[in-house]
Amino acid sequence: MEIQYVIINFLILVTVLVLVGRKTVKRIFGGRYEKIIEDLDKAEEIEKMPMPETEEPSAEAFAVDCSEEIAKAEGLVAEKVASIEAFREREKSEIHRAMIEAARKELFSVMKEHVVNLFSYEKYLNEVKALDRQIIDRILGMITLTPGDMAYLKHHDVLYVTLTSAYPLPKDIVESVDKATTELLDTVNGKTSLWVLEDKELIGGLRLRIGDTVYDGTIAEELYQFGKTLSREPIMHDDTVGHLIQEFTERAESFKPQIHKYQLGRVMTVSDGICWMDGLADIMYGEVVEFECGERGMVLDIQQNRIGCVIFGEFEHIESGSRVRRVGRIASVPVGECLLGRVVDALGNPIDAMGYLPYKETRPIENKAPGILDRAPVNSPLHTGIKAIDALVPIGKGQRELIIGDRQTGKTAVIIDTIINQKDKDTICIYVAIGQKDTLVAEIKEKLASNGAMDYTTIIAVPASASAALQYIAPFSGTAMAEYFMYEGKDVLIIYDDLSKHAVAYRELSLLLHRPSGREAYPGDIFYLHSRLLERAAHLSDELGGGSITALPIIETQAGDISAYIPTNVISITDGQIFLDAELFNEGQRPAVNVGLSVSRVGGAAQTPSMKKVSSSLRTRLAQYRELAEFMQFGSDIDDETKKTLASGRLLTEALRQPRYAPVEDNMQTILIFAVSEGYADGISPEDMERFEKDLYKYFREEKAELALKIKTAKKFDDELKASLKKALSEFAERL
Ligand code: ATP
Ligand code: MG
Repeated sequence: MEIQYVIINFLILVTVLVLVGRKTVKRIFGGRYEKIIEDLDKAEEIEKMPMPETEEPSAEAFAVDCSEEIAKAEGLVAEKVASIEAFREREKSEIHRAMIEAARKELFSVMKEHVVNLFSYEKYLNEVKALDRQIIDRILGMITLTPGDMAYLKHHDVLYVTLTSAYPLPKDIVESVDKATTELLDTVNGKTSLWVLEDKELIGGLRLRIGDTVYDGTIAEELYQFGKTLSREPIMHDDTVGHLIQEFTERAESFKPQIHKYQLGRVMTVSDGICWMDGLADIMYGEVVEFECGERGMVLDIQQNRIGCVIFGEFEHIESGSRVRRVGRIASVPVGECLLGRVVDALGNPIDAMGYLPYKETRPIENKAPGILDRAPVNSPLHTGIKAIDALVPIGKGQRELIIGDRQTGKTAVIIDTIINQKDKDTICIYVAIGQKDTLVAEIKEKLASNGAMDYTTIIAVPASASAALQYIAPFSGTAMAEYFMYEGKDVLIIYDDLSKHAVAYRELSLLLHRPSGREAYPGDIFYLHSRLLERAAHLSDELGGGSITALPIIETQAGDISAYIPTNVISITDGQIFLDAELFNEGQRPAVNVGLSVSRVGGAAQTPSMKKVSSSLRTRLAQYRELAEFMQFGSDIDDETKKTLASGRLLTEALRQPRYAPVEDNMQTILIFAVSEGYADGISPEDMERFEKDLYKYFREEKAELALKIKTAKKFDDELKASLKKALSEFAERL
């Protein structure tokens, strides 16, 4: 019974509750329900968004008056041109390239903005829109899947496709893109997701992006390309503001649909001049990429999920998440005759205030070294004009000879003299200054110019303040420039001053790229780096034109330690070394060539026969003298024989002394060494050696020119020649 009462009570309670609470419940949940329905409707609308509803957007939507903006842009352009002009004036005395570059970049962005403003809706309807169909047909004819896309599809189901235009597109275009890309992806069982976007910045035309690849048929791209060609040419010389604006506008108006294909990636992180990116799946090692801010970089690391590149310029403006564009070529530099007499940076941009570089060709900075069959033996001499080198460690064309020594031992001095000595000898010189002070480079240029050596010389200057990336590529750029001449059949002398700093720059890059470090914290491939570079020096076979590159790398040692890591590496790569001794240098023996530790493994074959004969015993005599001299420091009892050896050794050493900027011709060197070693200078005190040398040269130049020439050209230094030289020297000795 009781249970019946409980049930009846419960039913009454429920009825009362339902009657009282129904309205409240409805009020609470009803609104929510409606909102959910509304949201669902909206979501459906968003999904539909890519397909525009209207065929043609209404004219009113675009009828804006842009006269004010145009005037503003014109004003801005004028301002930029004026500021560039001002830089140009100052550039005459200082290096302002970077500032001019920055102003120029800004100028382009202002001009682009200006053109965007000029494009009214009317213009779009009349001129550009008609081209949309054409553009998209062309693009659809081009689209393919790249290896990078395939790799992406292995790990993902959907490949994103984005269609961007300046104005809303008609339905049929969007549909045809959807259809074509779906079909393309069907071939590899992948799916696409098409996004349709609008971007006024494009000005006109269409851009289709499939994965990382962009097919660009827009006016904005056209202007970008135009800007690129303009920046290679001298602008701002005669051009007025109006002229520039007119050219830019004309370019936009006479727009012909051209499809540019390139790849895009994205910046993940940037620090210390290194940028990690994703995307760009098809990129190659050594390729150039361009960042949105206009800076460029070179790919040095390719990993499965990221790509590392070094940034050439300033990296402060590069944002994480910004776009990176593949330029589509391996890093290369301008080459050709126009480089002679110029000072350029590691990328071949002139920095000498002599204006634009009118180059026609470029060459990749990394290139394969000539193979064994392409090479000929080293057989013609490259005279340095320095007695101690030409007589003792002769260098031949196509040889690689290391110049090694502590700091401040006259390493740079030796090669500057060598460059000066190449005057009228048909040898082109390329001096690569890595990590040197700007003032030093300016001084060197000044010296070369005043000696008439700049006419056949190019200086590549990468100061210590430049990024490690630029220091790293500088010798490669220089070699690319040298190779151009070599393959033209010319002789080139290239100097890397110095490779120790180059190794340090590469170590910095490698550590920043998180590569494992080895001995002295240098990366494992540092040997390969330098051998790859120096192996490009060669003497080409006659079939290839017979040109040559002679490489003189410089290495700085610490406290004369030539067995450190980098010195031993480079010693084993090169065909010999000239060791400049700090001790000799401080004693005043300059150039401070250490005879015992210097060697030239192939240059002997290239010496003139006379020099070869005359200098054959020189090395042993000098070594003997040094040994004796050191020994004699402790003794006082000297027999006559030893005294004689010491005196003649002293004279020989004295004869090998040479001031800077005073190269001596090869035949004069031969005569001098012959005269001293045969005892014609025996009566002379070491202090008078300089005067003896001068008189001797004068005598042979003025009175025995024929004999001097014979010594230079003779096929053999035979007894007859020797006798006539002896006769001439006796005559000269009588006059003393
Ligand atoms: P760094 O290690 O700084 O590059 P370096 O080894 O290249 O130095 P240099 O700059 O060529 O040395 O020369 C050092 C100094 O020695 C300079 O002041 C130079 O003028 C002087 N010097 C070099 N060679 C000679 C020479 N043959 N006669 C007189 N002075 C010389
Ligand atoms: Mg130096």
